[in-house]
Amino acid sequence: MSRAEVSRMRPPLVPLGTLIGRELRNEKLEKPFLKYGQAALAKKGEDYFLIKPDCLRVPGNPSTSFSVFAIFDGHNGISAAIFAKENLLDNVLSAIPQESSREEWLQALPRALVAGFVKTDIEFQQKGETSGTTVTFVVIDDWTITVASVGDSRCILDTQGGVVSLLTVDHRLEENVEERERVTASGGEVGRLNVYGGNEVGPLRCWPGGLCLSRSIGDTDVGEFIVPIPHVKQVKISNAGGRLIIASDGIWDALSSDMAAKSCRGLPAELAAKLVVKEALRSRGLKDDTTCLVVDIIPCDQPVLPPTPRKKQNMLRSLLFGKKSQNFMNKSTNKLSAVGVVEELFEEGSAMLAERLGKDFPSNATSGLFRCAVCQVDQAPADGLSVNSGPFFSPASKPWEGPFLCANCRKKKDAMEGKRAGIPTVIS
Ligand SMILES: [Zn+2]
Repeated sequence: MSRAEVSRMRPPLVPLGTLIGRELRNEKLEKPFLKYGQAALAKKGEDYFLIKPDCLRVPGNPSTSFSVFAIFDGHNGISAAIFAKENLLDNVLSAIPQESSREEWLQALPRALVAGFVKTDIEFQQKGETSGTTVTFVVIDDWTITVASVGDSRCILDTQGGVVSLLTVDHRLEENVEERERVTASGGEVGRLNVYGGNEVGPLRCWPGGLCLSRSIGDTDVGEFIVPIPHVKQVKISNAGGRLIIASDGIWDALSSDMAAKSCRGLPAELAAKLVVKEALRSRGLKDDTTCLVVDIIPCDQPVLPPTPRKKQNMLRSLLFGKKSQNFMNKSTNKLSAVGVVEELFEEGSAMLAERLGKDFPSNATSGLFRCAVCQVDQAPADGLSVNSGPFFSPASKPWEGPFLCANCRKKKDAMEGKRAGIPTVIS
C-alpha cells in the first residue's frame, strides 16, 4: 500500500472536547486495535522485553481486556531484568482492589504501579543477587495509556499532527539535578570516575557502587538511595489514535524523540521498530544493547495508523489561531493537553513513598486486619508496626502519615530515605 493510499484512509480528527462529550452522553467509544512490532540488537545481552496484549481485569470477561508492553535494560548481570519481567505485572495487579469498575481500576493503577515496583525490588533483594535493571512499563486500556518507569529507558507518544511527547523521565544522575540532590541527602555521594592523575572522566555516578542511574529495580549492593519508585504518567489520547515507541538507551543515546518518531512515520509497527533500530545503529554504531517496541493504537475501522502530515497541520493551526499560537505550538512538545490531542490524567515522580501511596488506604475493616500497602500481606496491627508508630522504630523519621506498612516494607521505606531502622540515636 502506498503512502498516498494510506493517507486517503486517514480518519477526520475528532477534538477531545467532542470525545468527552460523547462519553458523557454515554455513547460507547469502540475499543481501538493494537498493532505492535519489536526489534533488537544485542551487544551485552542484558535487554529484555515483555509483550502481553491480552490481559484481563476480570478473568473470563474479554470486554475487560488491557495490554502491557515493557522493556527491562539490565546492568551488572541479567537476573534483575529477568526477575522484573517475570514478577512485576503480577505484583502491580495484586495491589489493585478486586472487583473495581474500569474507572476505579484506572484510577488505582498509578498507586498500584508504585507498590508493585517496590514489592518486586524487595523480593529481588531477598534473593541476595546484585544486578539491577531499568524498567519502562506501559499499560494500555482502550484509549488510556499509563507508563511507569525507573532508569533511562524511554517511552514516547507520537500523535496526530506530528506532536511528539515524552511519557517518561530520565533518571540519570548526569541529567537530573533533583535526583542528584535526593541521592546526596540520603547519604550517597555523586561524582565522576577518578583516573590516574586525578582527572575525572565519564558521566556522574553515585558512590558506593558507581551507578549512573538514580532509580532502578535491584542494585542491592549499590545503596538504598537507588530507589525503585517509578515516575508515573497517565494520558488519554483521542480516537484518532497514536503511536508509542518504547526503547532502551541504546536508541535514545543515538536519536532524539523527534528523530525516532519521524524515522518511521506511516509505516506499520513491525517495520517501524526495525527502522528505528537501524536508524540508531547508522548514527552511532552498536555500542549498547538496543531494543525497540512500537505500539500503534488504531481506531478499529482503520487498517493502519495514518501518517501525520505535519506541515499541513501546522498551516491549518496557524490559520486558525494566528501567529502567536504558532509560536506556542512549537514549544508544546511536552504540553500535549494544550493542543487538545491528548488529555493528561495523572503525573507524579516523587521518590518519597509516603507521597506516592497517599493517606486514604483502606484497612480490612471486617477482619480487623491491616493490609500492607506495598506487599499486600494481611497483618494484625499488633504483629507489625501500627499505622503511626514511626518515632519508636525509626528514630530519624517523622511520624508516618501514610497507609499501613508491614515491618519489612516499613524498613525498606526508611532505608530508601537514608534512615536505617533499628539504629538508636545515641545522645551524649
Ligand atoms: Zn509489606
